[in-house]
Amino acid sequence: MSATKIIHSIPSDPLTGAISVPVYQTSTFIQEAPGVNKGFDYARSNNPTRKVLEDVVAQLENGHSGFAFATGLAAIDSVLKLLSVGDEIVAVDDIYGGAYRLFTHVYEKLGIKINYVDATEVENIANAVSKKTKLVWIESPTNPTLKISDIEAISKVAKSVNALLVVDNTFASPIAQKPIDLGADIVIHSGTKYIGGHSDLVAGLVITNTQELSEKIKFVQNASGGILGPWDCFLTIRGIETLDIRYKKQCENALKVALFLENQDAVEKVHYPGLKTHKNHEIAKKQQNGLFGGIVSFSLKNDTQEAAVKFVTNTEYFKLAESLGGVKSLLCHPAQMTHASIPREIRLNAGINDSLIRLSCGIEDADDLLNDLSKAFKTIEKSKEILTY
Ligand SMILES: *Cc1c(COP(=O)(O)O)cnc(C)c1O
Repeated sequence: MSATKIIHSIPSDPLTGAISVPVYQTSTFIQEAPGVNKGFDYARSNNPTRKVLEDVVAQLENGHSGFAFATGLAAIDSVLKLLSVGDEIVAVDDIYGGAYRLFTHVYEKLGIKINYVDATEVENIANAVSKKTKLVWIESPTNPTLKISDIEAISKVAKSVNALLVVDNTFASPIAQKPIDLGADIVIHSGTKYIGGHSDLVAGLVITNTQELSEKIKFVQNASGGILGPWDCFLTIRGIETLDIRYKKQCENALKVALFLENQDAVEKVHYPGLKTHKNHEIAKKQQNGLFGGIVSFSLKNDTQEAAVKFVTNTEYFKLAESLGGVKSLLCHPAQMTHASIPREIRLNAGINDSLIRLSCGIEDADDLLNDLSKAFKTIEKSKEILTY
Protein backbone atom coordinates (compact mmCIF):
# COMPACT_ATOMS: atom_id res chain seq x y z
CA MET A 1 0.00 0.00 0.00
CA SER A 2 1.52 3.29 -1.06
CA ALA A 3 1.89 6.27 1.26
CA THR A 4 -0.83 7.98 -0.79
CA LYS A 5 -3.25 5.08 -0.33
CA ILE A 6 -2.57 4.90 3.41
CA ILE A 7 -3.19 8.62 3.91
CA HIS A 8 -6.36 8.57 1.81
CA SER A 9 -7.72 5.39 3.38
CA ILE A 10 -8.49 7.65 6.34
CA PRO A 11 -11.87 9.24 5.54
CA SER A 12 -12.83 12.83 6.25
CA ASP A 13 -16.08 13.34 8.17
CA PRO A 14 -19.08 12.96 5.83
CA LEU A 15 -21.36 14.95 8.18
CA THR A 16 -19.32 18.15 8.51
CA GLY A 17 -16.43 17.89 6.06
CA ALA A 18 -13.93 17.91 8.93
CA ILE A 19 -10.70 16.68 7.34
CA SER A 20 -9.61 14.81 10.45
CA VAL A 21 -11.57 12.02 12.12
CA PRO A 22 -13.92 13.27 14.87
CA VAL A 23 -13.55 11.84 18.37
CA TYR A 24 -16.94 10.40 19.30
CA GLN A 25 -16.63 10.67 23.06
CA THR A 26 -19.94 9.00 23.91
CA SER A 27 -21.05 5.89 25.74
CA THR A 28 -24.39 5.37 24.01
CA PHE A 29 -26.41 6.28 20.89
CA ILE A 30 -30.05 7.39 20.73
CA GLN A 31 -32.40 4.89 19.09
CA GLU A 32 -35.50 5.86 17.07
CA ALA A 33 -37.31 2.75 18.26
CA PRO A 34 -35.98 -0.27 20.17
CA GLY A 35 -33.27 -1.81 18.00
CA VAL A 36 -33.54 0.91 15.33
CA ASN A 37 -30.28 2.89 15.24
CA LYS A 38 -27.68 4.35 12.88
CA GLY A 39 -25.36 1.35 13.19
CA PHE A 40 -24.18 2.14 16.69
CA ASP A 41 -25.90 1.29 19.97
CA TYR A 42 -23.33 1.11 22.78
CA ALA A 43 -19.67 2.14 22.76
CA ARG A 44 -18.24 -1.21 23.92
CA SER A 45 -19.83 -2.86 20.89
CA ASN A 46 -18.89 -0.14 18.45
CA ASN A 47 -17.84 3.48 18.19
CA PRO A 48 -17.51 5.57 15.01
CA THR A 49 -13.93 6.71 15.78
CA ARG A 50 -12.89 3.13 16.54
CA LYS A 51 -14.61 1.93 13.38
CA VAL A 52 -12.46 4.23 11.25
CA LEU A 53 -9.29 2.91 12.91
CA GLU A 54 -10.42 -0.70 12.54
CA ASP A 55 -11.24 -0.27 8.85
CA VAL A 56 -7.95 1.51 8.18
CA VAL A 57 -5.80 -1.20 9.81
CA ALA A 58 -7.71 -3.95 7.98
CA GLN A 59 -6.73 -2.23 4.70
CA LEU A 60 -3.14 -1.67 5.88
CA GLU A 61 -2.70 -5.41 6.44
CA ASN A 62 -4.76 -6.57 3.42
CA GLY A 63 -7.11 -8.28 5.86
CA HIS A 64 -10.88 -8.78 6.12
CA SER A 65 -11.46 -6.87 9.40
CA GLY A 66 -9.56 -5.01 12.08
CA PHE A 67 -10.18 -4.76 15.82
CA ALA A 68 -8.77 -2.21 18.27
CA PHE A 69 -7.97 -3.13 21.87
CA ALA A 70 -6.77 -1.26 24.94
CA THR A 71 -3.22 -2.70 24.65
CA GLY A 72 -1.22 -5.12 22.55
CA LEU A 73 -1.64 -7.75 25.24
CA ALA A 74 -5.43 -7.30 25.26
CA ALA A 75 -5.30 -7.93 21.49
CA ILE A 76 -3.24 -11.11 22.03
CA ASP A 77 -5.63 -12.20 24.79
CA SER A 78 -8.62 -11.92 22.44
CA VAL A 79 -7.04 -14.45 20.07
CA LEU A 80 -6.20 -16.88 22.89
CA LYS A 81 -9.88 -16.80 23.88
CA LEU A 82 -10.68 -18.66 20.65
CA LEU A 83 -9.14 -21.79 22.26
CA SER A 84 -10.65 -24.53 24.45
CA VAL A 85 -9.21 -26.83 27.11
CA GLY A 86 -6.78 -29.35 25.59
CA ASP A 87 -5.84 -27.19 22.60
CA GLU A 88 -2.18 -26.62 21.88
CA ILE A 89 -0.09 -23.69 20.67
CA VAL A 90 3.28 -23.94 18.95
CA ALA A 91 5.03 -20.64 19.62
CA VAL A 92 8.35 -19.00 18.75
CA ASP A 93 10.77 -19.47 21.65
CA ASP A 94 11.87 -15.85 21.98
CA ILE A 95 8.31 -14.57 22.01
CA TYR A 96 7.55 -11.12 23.48
CA GLY A 97 7.93 -11.38 27.27
CA GLY A 98 4.39 -10.21 28.02
CA ALA A 99 2.94 -12.81 25.64
CA TYR A 100 5.09 -15.48 27.35
CA ARG A 101 3.70 -14.41 30.74
CA LEU A 102 0.10 -14.52 29.46
CA PHE A 103 0.55 -17.91 27.74
CA THR A 104 2.41 -19.58 30.60
CA HIS A 105 0.91 -18.03 33.71
CA VAL A 106 -2.69 -17.54 32.61
CA TYR A 107 -3.58 -19.89 29.74
CA GLU A 108 -1.46 -22.92 30.67
CA LYS A 109 -3.34 -22.95 33.99
CA LEU A 110 -6.61 -23.03 32.05
CA GLY A 111 -5.59 -26.18 30.16
CA ILE A 112 -3.84 -24.84 27.05
CA LYS A 113 -0.51 -26.49 26.22
CA ILE A 114 2.27 -24.37 24.76
CA ASN A 115 5.28 -25.73 22.94
CA TYR A 116 8.08 -23.18 22.37
CA VAL A 117 10.41 -23.79 19.42
CA ASP A 118 13.15 -22.00 17.49
CA ALA A 119 11.17 -20.74 14.49
CA THR A 120 14.21 -19.71 12.44
CA GLU A 121 14.16 -23.28 11.03
CA VAL A 122 10.81 -24.32 9.51
CA GLU A 123 11.54 -27.99 10.35
CA ASN A 124 11.35 -27.19 14.06
CA ILE A 125 7.75 -26.01 13.59
CA ALA A 126 6.94 -29.00 11.37
CA ASN A 127 8.25 -31.37 14.08
CA ALA A 128 6.28 -29.63 16.83
CA VAL A 129 2.78 -29.42 15.32
CA SER A 130 0.13 -32.11 15.74
CA LYS A 131 -3.63 -32.51 15.29
CA LYS A 132 -4.08 -30.80 18.66
CA THR A 133 -2.24 -27.66 17.48
CA LYS A 134 -4.79 -24.90 17.02
CA LEU A 135 -2.44 -21.91 16.77
CA VAL A 136 1.07 -21.43 15.44
CA TRP A 137 2.33 -18.17 16.94
CA ILE A 138 5.34 -16.34 15.56
CA GLU A 139 7.04 -12.97 15.61
CA SER A 140 9.46 -11.91 12.91
CA PRO A 141 11.73 -10.04 13.62
CA THR A 142 11.85 -11.08 17.28
CA ASN A 143 12.70 -9.04 20.33
CA PRO A 144 15.48 -8.21 21.15
CA THR A 145 17.76 -10.43 19.02
CA LEU A 146 15.87 -9.83 15.73
CA LYS A 147 15.58 -13.43 14.61
CA ILE A 148 13.71 -13.94 11.32
CA SER A 149 11.43 -16.81 10.37
CA ASP A 150 9.99 -17.70 6.98
CA ILE A 151 6.29 -16.79 7.29
CA GLU A 152 5.20 -18.31 3.98
CA ALA A 153 6.86 -21.67 4.71
CA ILE A 154 5.47 -21.74 8.26
CA SER A 155 1.96 -20.94 6.99
CA LYS A 156 2.08 -24.12 4.88
CA VAL A 157 3.02 -26.17 7.93
CA ALA A 158 0.19 -24.60 9.94
CA LYS A 159 -2.33 -25.33 7.16
CA SER A 160 -1.22 -28.97 6.97
CA VAL A 161 -2.64 -29.52 10.48
CA ASN A 162 -5.52 -27.04 10.16
CA ALA A 163 -3.96 -24.67 12.69
CA LEU A 164 -4.25 -20.89 12.39
CA LEU A 165 -1.04 -18.96 11.84
CA VAL A 166 -0.83 -15.84 14.03
CA VAL A 167 1.92 -13.33 13.29
CA ASP A 168 2.78 -10.57 15.75
CA ASN A 169 3.85 -7.98 13.17
CA THR A 170 4.75 -5.24 15.67
CA PHE A 171 8.45 -5.02 14.75
CA ALA A 172 8.10 -5.14 10.97
CA SER A 173 5.00 -2.92 10.81
CA PRO A 174 2.62 -3.18 7.83
CA ILE A 175 5.02 -0.98 5.86
CA ALA A 176 7.69 -3.70 5.72
CA GLN A 177 5.66 -6.88 5.99
CA LYS A 178 2.14 -8.12 5.21
CA PRO A 179 1.77 -11.52 6.91
CA ILE A 180 -1.73 -12.15 5.48
CA ASP A 181 -0.27 -11.96 1.95
CA LEU A 182 2.27 -14.57 3.09
CA GLY A 183 -0.42 -16.96 4.36
CA ALA A 184 -1.10 -15.82 7.94
CA ASP A 185 -4.67 -15.99 9.31
CA ILE A 186 -4.37 -13.38 12.06
CA VAL A 187 -2.03 -10.42 12.49
CA ILE A 188 -1.36 -8.74 15.84
CA HIS A 189 0.12 -5.33 16.53
CA SER A 190 1.09 -3.53 19.64
CA GLY A 191 -0.22 -0.18 18.35
CA THR A 192 1.84 1.32 21.16
CA LYS A 193 4.96 0.94 19.00
CA TYR A 194 5.35 1.89 15.30
CA ILE A 195 1.68 2.35 14.42
CA GLY A 196 1.05 4.90 17.18
CA GLY A 197 4.63 5.99 16.71
CA HIS A 198 4.88 8.89 19.17
CA SER A 199 5.22 7.12 22.53
CA ASP A 200 1.99 8.79 23.66
CA LEU A 201 -0.48 5.89 23.90
CA VAL A 202 -0.91 2.15 24.45
CA ALA A 203 -3.06 0.21 21.99
CA GLY A 204 -3.47 -3.22 20.43
CA LEU A 205 -4.77 -4.38 17.04
CA VAL A 206 -5.99 -7.67 15.60
CA ILE A 207 -6.46 -8.14 11.86
CA THR A 208 -8.26 -11.24 10.58
CA ASN A 209 -8.30 -12.72 7.07
CA THR A 210 -11.83 -14.22 6.83
CA GLN A 211 -15.42 -13.35 7.67
CA GLU A 212 -15.63 -16.35 10.01
CA LEU A 213 -12.57 -15.34 12.05
CA SER A 214 -13.73 -11.72 12.08
CA GLU A 215 -17.05 -12.73 13.63
CA LYS A 216 -15.25 -14.75 16.30
CA ILE A 217 -12.90 -11.92 17.29
CA LYS A 218 -15.75 -9.39 17.19
CA PHE A 219 -17.68 -11.62 19.59
CA VAL A 220 -14.73 -11.82 22.02
CA GLN A 221 -14.07 -8.07 21.75
CA ASN A 222 -17.64 -7.29 22.76
CA ALA A 223 -17.92 -10.12 25.31
CA SER A 224 -14.65 -9.32 27.12
CA GLY A 225 -14.77 -5.59 26.51
CA GLY A 226 -11.07 -4.70 26.28
CA ILE A 227 -11.65 -2.03 23.63
CA LEU A 228 -9.57 1.03 22.76
CA GLY A 229 -11.22 4.32 23.78
CA PRO A 230 -12.13 6.95 21.16
CA TRP A 231 -9.38 9.42 22.03
CA ASP A 232 -6.65 6.78 21.72
CA CYS A 233 -8.29 5.60 18.46
CA PHE A 234 -7.95 9.15 17.17
CA LEU A 235 -4.26 9.33 18.17
CA THR A 236 -3.59 5.96 16.55
CA ILE A 237 -5.26 7.11 13.31
CA ARG A 238 -3.13 10.25 13.38
CA GLY A 239 -0.06 8.05 13.85
CA ILE A 240 -0.97 5.98 10.79
CA GLU A 241 -1.00 9.12 8.62
CA THR A 242 2.81 9.34 8.98
CA LEU A 243 3.60 5.65 9.44
CA ASP A 244 5.14 5.17 6.00
CA ILE A 245 7.56 8.11 6.16
CA ARG A 246 8.45 7.46 9.81
CA TYR A 247 9.11 3.76 9.38
CA LYS A 248 11.29 4.23 6.31
CA LYS A 249 13.38 6.89 8.05
CA GLN A 250 13.74 4.64 11.10
CA CYS A 251 14.94 1.77 8.86
CA GLU A 252 17.44 4.08 7.20
CA ASN A 253 18.78 5.26 10.56
CA ALA A 254 18.91 1.71 11.94
CA LEU A 255 20.93 0.41 8.98
CA LYS A 256 23.47 3.23 9.43
CA VAL A 257 23.62 2.52 13.16
CA ALA A 258 24.11 -1.25 12.56
CA LEU A 259 26.97 -0.65 10.09
CA PHE A 260 28.56 1.81 12.53
CA LEU A 261 28.30 -0.66 15.41
CA GLU A 262 29.96 -3.42 13.35
CA ASN A 263 33.08 -1.24 13.18
CA GLN A 264 33.36 -0.54 16.91
CA ASP A 265 36.22 -2.26 18.80
CA ALA A 266 34.09 -2.60 21.92
CA VAL A 267 31.28 -4.48 20.13
CA GLU A 268 31.11 -8.27 20.18
CA LYS A 269 28.03 -8.88 17.99
CA VAL A 270 25.45 -6.79 16.15
CA HIS A 271 21.94 -8.17 15.57
CA TYR A 272 20.20 -6.59 12.57
CA PRO A 273 18.36 -8.40 9.74
CA GLY A 274 19.71 -5.87 7.24
CA LEU A 275 23.30 -7.07 7.74
CA LYS A 276 24.54 -9.70 5.27
CA THR A 277 25.98 -11.61 8.23
CA HIS A 278 22.47 -12.11 9.71
CA LYS A 279 21.43 -15.80 9.61
CA ASN A 280 18.18 -15.21 7.72
CA HIS A 281 19.09 -11.99 5.88
CA GLU A 282 17.84 -13.35 2.54
CA ILE A 283 14.42 -14.30 3.96
CA ALA A 284 14.13 -10.90 5.65
CA LYS A 285 15.00 -9.16 2.39
CA LYS A 286 12.32 -11.12 0.54
CA GLN A 287 9.45 -10.91 3.04
CA GLN A 288 10.13 -7.40 4.42
CA ASN A 289 10.06 -5.44 1.21
CA GLY A 290 13.76 -4.53 1.59
CA LEU A 291 13.04 -2.74 4.89
CA PHE A 292 14.78 -4.26 7.92
CA GLY A 293 13.21 -2.30 10.76
CA GLY A 294 14.25 0.37 13.25
CA ILE A 295 15.55 -1.91 16.01
CA VAL A 296 19.21 -2.88 16.37
CA SER A 297 20.74 -4.76 19.28
CA PHE A 298 24.36 -5.47 20.13
CA SER A 299 26.53 -7.03 22.82
CA LEU A 300 29.86 -5.82 24.16
CA LYS A 301 33.21 -7.65 24.27
CA ASN A 302 33.26 -6.74 27.94
CA ASP A 303 30.12 -8.81 28.51
CA THR A 304 29.12 -7.40 31.89
CA GLN A 305 26.04 -5.62 33.14
CA GLU A 306 28.34 -2.86 34.44
CA ALA A 307 29.67 -2.03 30.97
CA ALA A 308 26.15 -2.06 29.52
CA VAL A 309 24.82 0.18 32.29
CA LYS A 310 27.68 2.61 31.74
CA PHE A 311 26.76 2.75 28.04
CA VAL A 312 23.00 3.15 28.41
CA THR A 313 23.35 5.92 30.98
CA ASN A 314 25.71 7.97 28.81
CA THR A 315 23.68 8.77 25.71
CA GLU A 316 21.95 12.07 25.08
CA TYR A 317 19.45 11.40 22.28
CA PHE A 318 18.88 7.69 22.89
CA LYS A 319 16.69 7.90 26.01
CA LEU A 320 16.78 5.03 28.49
CA ALA A 321 13.25 3.60 28.48
CA GLU A 322 11.22 0.48 27.76
CA SER A 323 9.14 0.39 24.55
CA LEU A 324 10.16 1.17 20.99
CA GLY A 325 8.99 2.46 17.63
CA GLY A 326 8.50 6.15 18.50
CA VAL A 327 9.95 9.20 16.77
CA LYS A 328 12.43 9.69 19.63
CA SER A 329 15.26 7.17 19.83
CA LEU A 330 15.24 4.89 22.86
CA LEU A 331 17.63 2.35 24.27
CA CYS A 332 17.33 -0.30 26.92
CA HIS A 333 19.25 -3.01 28.72
CA PRO A 334 17.00 -6.09 28.29
CA ALA A 335 18.69 -8.17 31.02
CA GLN A 336 17.62 -5.64 33.65
CA MET A 337 14.57 -4.16 31.95
CA THR A 338 12.31 -5.83 29.34
CA HIS A 339 13.65 -9.36 30.00
CA ALA A 340 14.45 -9.11 33.73
CA SER A 341 11.75 -11.65 34.63
CA ILE A 342 13.37 -14.38 32.51
CA PRO A 343 15.86 -16.61 34.42
CA ARG A 344 19.50 -15.83 33.41
CA GLU A 345 20.15 -19.31 32.00
CA ILE A 346 17.13 -19.15 29.63
CA ARG A 347 18.00 -15.56 28.75
CA LEU A 348 21.57 -16.50 27.77
CA ASN A 349 20.31 -19.43 25.68
CA ALA A 350 18.10 -16.99 23.77
CA GLY A 351 21.20 -14.88 23.01
CA ILE A 352 20.32 -12.13 25.47
CA ASN A 353 23.78 -11.60 26.97
CA ASP A 354 24.47 -9.62 30.13
CA SER A 355 25.76 -6.73 28.01
CA LEU A 356 23.11 -6.83 25.26
CA ILE A 357 21.76 -3.36 24.46
CA ARG A 358 18.66 -2.74 22.35
CA LEU A 359 18.33 0.45 20.32
CA SER A 360 15.07 1.75 18.90
CA CYS A 361 16.08 4.28 16.25
CA GLY A 362 13.85 7.31 15.95
CA ILE A 363 13.62 9.81 13.13
CA GLU A 364 16.43 12.14 14.25
CA ASP A 365 19.33 12.95 11.89
CA ALA A 366 21.49 9.84 11.54
CA ASP A 367 24.75 11.74 12.17
CA ASP A 368 23.48 12.92 15.55
CA LEU A 369 22.57 9.37 16.51
CA LEU A 370 26.02 8.07 15.47
CA ASN A 371 27.77 10.86 17.40
CA ASP A 372 25.64 10.07 20.42
CA LEU A 373 26.70 6.41 20.32
CA SER A 374 30.37 7.39 19.74
CA LYS A 375 30.35 9.44 22.92
CA ALA A 376 28.85 6.56 24.91
CA PHE A 377 31.57 4.21 23.58
CA LYS A 378 34.22 6.69 24.76
CA THR A 379 32.82 6.55 28.29
CA ILE A 380 33.19 2.77 28.43
CA GLU A 381 36.73 2.98 27.03
CA LYS A 382 37.58 5.55 29.68
CA SER A 383 36.33 3.34 32.50
CA LYS A 384 38.51 0.52 31.12
CA GLU A 385 41.61 2.76 31.35
CA ILE A 386 40.77 3.68 34.92
CA LEU A 387 40.44 -0.01 35.78
CA THR A 388 43.91 -0.88 34.42
CA TYR A 389 45.61 1.68 36.70
C1 LIG B 1 5.02 -4.26 23.14
C2 LIG B 1 4.72 -5.52 22.44
C3 LIG B 1 3.55 -6.24 22.73
C4 LIG B 1 2.58 -5.83 23.82
O1 LIG B 1 1.98 -4.63 23.54
P1 LIG B 1 1.41 -3.63 24.69
O2 LIG B 1 0.80 -2.56 23.89
O3 LIG B 1 2.60 -3.22 25.49
O4 LIG B 1 0.45 -4.42 25.51
C5 LIG B 1 3.31 -7.39 22.02
N1 LIG B 1 4.17 -7.83 21.08
C6 LIG B 1 5.31 -7.16 20.78
C7 LIG B 1 6.22 -7.70 19.72
C8 LIG B 1 5.63 -5.99 21.45
O5 LIG B 1 6.76 -5.34 21.17
